[in-house]
Amino acid sequence: MKKKSLTFVLSAPSGAGKTSISNKITGLVRNLKHSISHTTRPPRPNEINGQDYFFISREEFQGKIDKGDFLEWADVFGNLYGTSVENVQWAEKENCDLLFVIDVQGAETLRKLKHPGIYIFLLPPSLHELKNRLNNRKVNTPEEIEKRLARARKEIFHYKAYDYVLVNEDLEEAADQVRSIIIAERCRGSRFDPSQVDLDLETPD
Ligand code: 5GP
Repeated sequence: MKKKSLTFVLSAPSGAGKTSISNKITGLVRNLKHSISHTTRPPRPNEINGQDYFFISREEFQGKIDKGDFLEWADVFGNLYGTSVENVQWAEKENCDLLFVIDVQGAETLRKLKHPGIYIFLLPPSLHELKNRLNNRKVNTPEEIEKRLARARKEIFHYKAYDYVLVNEDLEEAADQVRSIIIAERCRGSRFDPSQVDLDLETPD
C-alpha cells in the first residue's frame, strides 16, 4: 500500500545537536531517511561525499539553482546549502519519510511554499552551553564560533513558527523525543488509510 511520504524538518542553531540527533534516529526509526543536502562548504575531515552532504562547487550549485533542482536553498555562513527536489521524489518512490536537517531560512522557505511538513525546533539549554559544544567539537575557528553564536542569538526567536520545540539537555532524551514525535505523527487519525486493515470500517452497526 502506497502512503504519502511525510517530511520532518529539524532546525536548530549550529551546535545545538541536530546532526547527532538525526544520525541517532535515522538508525532507530524504520522507513525514515535523512535527506542529504548539497553544499558548497568543503568537507570536514570525517565527512563523506554522498553520505553527509553532496559537496559541489559554487558553479555547480548555481547551475542547479538555475535548473530549479532545489526545493529550498540558503546561504549559511557564506556557504550555500540546498535540498534537492529529487530527494522528495525519491522518498515518494521508496515509500519512506524524510528528515530535513536544515537552517531556519530553509524551513521558512518551505513554509512559504506550503510544503507539507512537521516542523521541529531544537534549542540548546543556554548560549553558554552552546558555546561549550561548539568549542568541544573542534571543527570551527574561534572567529567562526563567534559568528555562529551571534547567529544563534537571532535564530532562537524562530522557535514560535515550529510545531514542536524541544531542549537538547541530553542527547539520548532529545533523540527519543524526536523519535516519539515522528511515530505519533505517523499515527495521526487524519493519515489513517482504512485499506490498511482487513476490517469493514465503512458500515457501522
Ligand atoms: P554545517 O556546515 O555545520 O554542516 O551546517 C550549517 C547549517 O546549514 C546547519 O544549520 C545546517 O542544518 C544547515 N543546512 C544543512 N543542509 C541544509 C539545506 O539543505 N538547506 C538549508 N537551508 N540549510 C541546510
